Amino acid sequence: MGGLLPPETWLGAPGLMLQSGQLAGCLPAHPAPWVAEGHARPLSLHAPWLGDTPGQCQWRPNGSRPGFLGDCCQAAWLGINIFLFTYYFLFFDQDERYFYTRAILGSALAWARASAKCLNFNSMLILLPVCRNLLSFLRGTCSCCRRTLRKQLDHNLTFHKLVAYALALFTAVHTIAHLFNLERYNDSQQATDGSLAAVLSKMHLQNSNKWLNPIHSNQTTVEYVAFTTIPGLTGVIITLALILMVTSSTEFIRRNYFEVFWYTHHLFIIYFAGLVIHGIAGLVRGQTEDSMEEVHPQRCAEYLVHNHKECRHECCKNPEFSSIPAESWKWVLAPVLLYIFERILRVWRARQKVVVTKAVMHPARVLELQMQKKGFRMEVGQYIFVNCPAISLLEWHPFTLTSAPEEESFSIHIRAAGDWTERIIDTFQQQKPEMPRIEVDGPFGTASEDVFQYEVAMLVGAGIGVTPFASILKSIWYKFQQADQTLKTKKIYFYWLCRDTGAFAWFNDLLASLEQKMAESGKADFLTYRLFLTGWDSSIANNAAVHHDTATDTVTGLRHKTIFGRPMWNTEFSAVATAHPRSVVGVFLCGPGALAKDLQKSCHQHSSLDPRKVKFYFNKENF
Ligand SMILES: Cc1cc2nc3c(=O)[nH]c(=O)nc-3n(C[C@H](O)[C@H](O)[C@H](O)COP(=O)(O)OP(=O)(O)OC[C@H]3O[C@@H](n4cnc5c(N)ncnc54)[C@H](O)[C@@H]3O)c2cc1C
Repeated sequence: MGGLLPPETWLGAPGLMLQSGQLAGCLPAHPAPWVAEGHARPLSLHAPWLGDTPGQCQWRPNGSRPGFLGDCCQAAWLGINIFLFTYYFLFFDQDERYFYTRAILGSALAWARASAKCLNFNSMLILLPVCRNLLSFLRGTCSCCRRTLRKQLDHNLTFHKLVAYALALFTAVHTIAHLFNLERYNDSQQATDGSLAAVLSKMHLQNSNKWLNPIHSNQTTVEYVAFTTIPGLTGVIITLALILMVTSSTEFIRRNYFEVFWYTHHLFIIYFAGLVIHGIAGLVRGQTEDSMEEVHPQRCAEYLVHNHKECRHECCKNPEFSSIPAESWKWVLAPVLLYIFERILRVWRARQKVVVTKAVMHPARVLELQMQKKGFRMEVGQYIFVNCPAISLLEWHPFTLTSAPEEESFSIHIRAAGDWTERIIDTFQQQKPEMPRIEVDGPFGTASEDVFQYEVAMLVGAGIGVTPFASILKSIWYKFQQADQTLKTKKIYFYWLCRDTGAFAWFNDLLASLEQKMAESGKADFLTYRLFLTGWDSSIANNAAVHHDTATDTVTGLRHKTIFGRPMWNTEFSAVATAHPRSVVGVFLCGPGALAKDLQKSCHQHSSLDPRKVKFYFNKENF
């Protein structure tokens, strides 16, 4: 199959093929009987996670750690947070302008203000890592330290989460500090002991604009202030919004109720609106500059308390107070505008015409879409966001590109995983005269060009996690076709683990064609692939046993025999280490965390301490 046909014609047999303009009558209303839906009864070696794994892979060298540059960025971010907190804590704890404020609030003032500064700083940062078009632009234009920097940009979500945790922490500190503040304002207002706090709290009675304590009445309660003042009410709202956003972002919710996570996250609009107006009422006050010149806080405090009646007007004027101006808007204005621009750009890009040139239904409910879009340029391993307005106007789902950059059209393979993917597959299966409209945003993500940087590469895909490797293998096919001399890679080991036999058909033809191409170029050894079937029933096993001696595999029809069960990574790594005793081997995984752990361990175990000998470098995906 496939033979020397170019890769864009490799459509996994037995796939149902729809081409634009040929849709009507092409597809049966129901999936064809060969569609391998639940036919493989799991045996003991069945790994339930295989095949359900989304194929979202962005390479993370050495696991999910961001690397040296990333560490530096994180250290800088942490350093700025520590600096801001310490600087403003000391400032509000010691500055004379806040001497009287501290007389009422104590150190809670410094805790509240220092955390507010850090909140502003992190609110300024939180949107930047999710401006994916901005990141794409940076990725494309940064020529200095290009690859290293590009890789750091792919840690955007890690950074987004880090900043979110900081926001949650500083919100907690800020809220608790202000609860203390409210309590202290209230206590001072009600106090009749003649203390400085009590005297200062009564001052609003004499001059209503120069007050220090925002609680002006003995009847006011803390709850009343919290729910009726602008800072109180906005504080409650943004804290609630933040709690909802953080709790709905847990791994569990994202995996099982993605829409809940996604829509709840849009409370960020309320968060930013609330943040901007939170400080405008200026309830926390300090002494004015003019008043400071006339009324030295330390000296006059004595008079205020002890010589209240006799000396106050002669020796010291009453101190005057003004609000700390609201400044959150200054911090967040630029990123919010940038993000609005990003969303407008997404809408604009989404409106660019996408022509679905081919839709192929593969076994195990995988839909392949081949598309064309003017000016679309991709690199191997990148992904796009797809929207199908017929299903949902708002939902955008990411899919790894399975085509090679050398191809005219680009393609994705969509595996049924939930509501949206089920519905898009159903939509394309319905016999409608016109293809459903598809909108595409992207491509995004760093190219997996690192694979080509290694002399030897081990590519491991689980289930639909094969998609980025399809792109890589296709690109290799083109490189061979064009006799590309720049290709550094001398050997590729490709491992594909699938739960059911049908899944292999997704890229069967690709493998067959590569096999043939390599043989013709005299480089039959270039690609070694191993297909592992982790779920099967007795009929498949019996069939394989009966046809054990045939030249081709009974499951895939390929030269290499399908292996039943999971790979023995120790054996695989030992074999690679023996075959390439002095090479640097890149190990690339697109699959679940459990598999990542196994591979990372094997990389460690089989790497030689001698720098001249074999070394395995693990590149993990980010889900
Ligand atoms: C970078 C990347 C590349 C991917 N490439 C492929 C691919 O090539 N082929 C493929 O079949 N699948 C791929 N996926 C997974 C695919 O995006 C999800 O299967 C799909 O979005 C599921 O949507 P659903 O509503 O049908 O399922 P749901 O039941 O809503 O979700 C199933 C799983 O997909 C995740 N998910 C749902 N919606 C989104 C979304 N909008 N963004 C990110 N994750 C989501 C959920 O967390 C959950 O784990 C990729 C995911 C990412 C992040």
